[in-house]
Order: sequence, then structure tokens, then C-alpha cells
Amino acid sequence: MAAATERDPIRAHYRRAVASRRVGEKAQCACGESRPEALISGSKPVICAKCRRMTKGQSIMDDHHVAGRSNSPVTIPVPVSDHRAVLSPAQYDWPKETLENPEELDLLKAAACIRGYIDCQDYLTNKILRPIAELLERRTKLERRSRKDQRNVTKSAEA
Ligand SMILES: [Zn+2]
Repeated sequence: MAAATERDPIRAHYRRAVASRRVGEKAQCACGESRPEALISGSKPVICAKCRRMTKGQSIMDDHHVAGRSNSPVTIPVPVSDHRAVLSPAQYDWPKETLENPEELDLLKAAACIRGYIDCQDYLTNKILRPIAELLERRTKLERRSRKDQRNVTKSAEA
């Protein structure tokens, strides 16, 4: 039995496959965006939501309902493509009754707030912290090469 904290990988795969079929295999915007959920279906050439908005002079930011519209009015601004490709799909993995909460039950509102906070934390971790860790790791290769070069200079001077 999967832990309660795990996302449903089968549902996520199915959703991604449907989105991919909707826009076409290996579809990509001129800006490089290739996440199917961020691409506008039926657009030719294929264009992403961000570029579409930019061509129309509209904001590229969306107001993401952190706990779902039914559970809280709290929103945070996020880029439209991340909203469509990351944060909304994350909410589709929630239990349907938590996201929709048609009876406006307080305990489900609280559960939605926790799930929304976790999703936003995951989003920020992947968007902000992970690239910094990867940058530091890439820079380590340069540092290693620099140290090696320095040792070779020192050896040459000693010879
Ligand atoms: Zn684009």
C-alpha cells in the first residue's frame, strides 16, 4: 500500500499522456517550453500559455488558489505555465472531495490548506533551491579543474 503522502503515479502518468496527446508528441513552443500542460492545444505553430499571453500583452502571472477555490480565497501569483504544468496538476492528485469540498466541511478545508502548502513548498523547492544546488555542483567541477591547474603551475615553478 502506498504511503498517504505519495502522489498517485498512475493518475499522474495518465494525465500527462492525455495532455501530451492533446498537443502532439514532442510538441514544443519556440521559447523551449515542452510541458504538455503548458502548451495551448490546437495552436499552430505550437505556443505555450506564457508566450500566448505575451503576444496579447496580457500578464504572464496567474493567481493560484493555494488550497483550491472551494476551500480558501488565498492566492499566490505564479507564472501561468507553472500554474498549468505544476500546481494545478498537483491539486488533481488530491482526493477529489478535498479539492472540491462541495459541503464546505471545515476539516476538508484544513486538509486542503495543508496539501496546498505542501504543493507550494515542493514547487518553490524545485524552482528555487534545486537549481542553486545544481549550480553549486557544476561550479565544483570548475573549482576542481582550477585547483588541478594551480597544482600544475606550482609543480612547474618548483622544477
Ligand atoms: Zn513559449
